[in-house]
Amino acid sequence: MSNITRREFIRQSMLLTAGMVLVSCEDEDQGGEGTYESPGMLLGNQLTKNVVIVGAGMAGLVAGYELVRAGHDVTILEARERVGGRVFTLRAPFSDGHYADAGAARIPPDHDMTLGYADHFGLKLDPFYPDSSYYVNLSGDERTLVSASDYINDPPWEGYHVNRQDFLKIRGGTDILPHAFADYLAEQIHLGAPVESIEQNSNGVVVRISDGTELNADRVLCTVPLTVLNRIQFNPQLSPEKLEASSGGYYYFNITRVFMQFVNRFWESEVLNGWGNTDWPEEIWHPTWGRQGPRGVLLSYLKFNRADEIDLLSEGDRIEHVLSRWETVFPGVQEHYEDGTSHSWALEEWSGGAVSWPSSEQEAALGAHIGAAEGRVHFAGEHASDYHGWMQGALVSGLRAAVEIHESDSYII
Ligand SMILES: Cc1cc2nc3c(=O)[nH]c(=O)nc-3n(C[C@H](O)[C@H](O)[C@H](O)COP(=O)(O)OP(=O)(O)OC[C@H]3O[C@@H](n4cnc5c(N)ncnc54)[C@H](O)[C@@H]3O)c2cc1C
Repeated sequence: MSNITRREFIRQSMLLTAGMVLVSCEDEDQGGEGTYESPGMLLGNQLTKNVVIVGAGMAGLVAGYELVRAGHDVTILEARERVGGRVFTLRAPFSDGHYADAGAARIPPDHDMTLGYADHFGLKLDPFYPDSSYYVNLSGDERTLVSASDYINDPPWEGYHVNRQDFLKIRGGTDILPHAFADYLAEQIHLGAPVESIEQNSNGVVVRISDGTELNADRVLCTVPLTVLNRIQFNPQLSPEKLEASSGGYYYFNITRVFMQFVNRFWESEVLNGWGNTDWPEEIWHPTWGRQGPRGVLLSYLKFNRADEIDLLSEGDRIEHVLSRWETVFPGVQEHYEDGTSHSWALEEWSGGAVSWPSSEQEAALGAHIGAAEGRVHFAGEHASDYHGWMQGALVSGLRAAVEIHESDSYII
């Protein structure tokens, strides 16, 4: 079809006949990408629905992507001035084109949706951990060097089923993945659009943004983390279980990362690769590993109460605190420091925490309710999945909600 897409042709024809729209996902022609399969492609012909998605993190983006490709009319409202949510690659204040991830970074080999969409968009993957030089382990004042082969043949956390050597990362920074979705959804995404209320009535759903704009929808998908869900007013009110979960009844933990750029990779003189662990506890990552020097960026990855403690400090004091502790890990570290920054997920206005981490009791009592649709409002996000704290969870839950919406109401064969 030359000047008009097949979808538009069908839309116009059907509008002429019954005021109704029939679409197919088999032969979409959008931006040259719509015809090829994706891991979560929606199947079957359905009535077009007018869908509003709240949040342009991985859950909202994947749902939006598949719903648009299946022919639905989608609007994505994002509170921040950027897409990606907890996938956020920092490129400042680093020099020489260096970057480091403040959020999602490593991908286990069995996360089929994360890897599947990376492949779908043609993204390049690299091993996450170095397989050469020495890792540092600091316990008390005792520093030990661990060979790369020993280190990467262990999991990053006790009991985890994947060894370090099998983790992957997206070349160029993890945010390339949400940006790939967002490039396709440029017309659908509205940034700086915090949703304040979601009201269901007999005609559908009305979504109101902070500037007073109201949007009408057949279906709404809400992907905001539970930590900030209570900033949206729902009418009718959410179920008691969702209210409990969004009032602190479903635990989240905090993560703060402190990033430091050095004028050179001084640790290499000791045949160190810049990675390691301390018993603070803390992971030490070297995001510029494998990239052209001479400068290098290291980061301190702090969780739970260590993240809460460092959040009490100013940014300058956070960096100073890490540098002074690291004198035992990388002797002379302070002399080589050039510039730095930090990122706390608990202090982020639209996150309010890093990742959901419910106790088994919380999961048993609330887990099944968190992703359950309420009327015409659907819910997704890493918290509404079995993969808490992973992009995979956001993608799986976003796709589950997209199927719910796609298959809701009438089904046309
Ligand atoms: C420090 C850190 C490290 C991580 N490491 C990894 C890792 O190595 N590998 C991995 O796979 N995963 C990792 N994750 C987890 C992964 O980043 C998340 O599971 C995933 O990105 C969550 O996506 P989401 O769509 O569920 O939520 P989010 O990314 O939080 O998206 C929700 C969106 O909703 C928006 N929003 C909130 N309120 C409103 C409102 N009222 N109106 C409009 N928009 C709103 C937010 O701005 C946000 O963009 C990590 C996360 C963190 C924080």
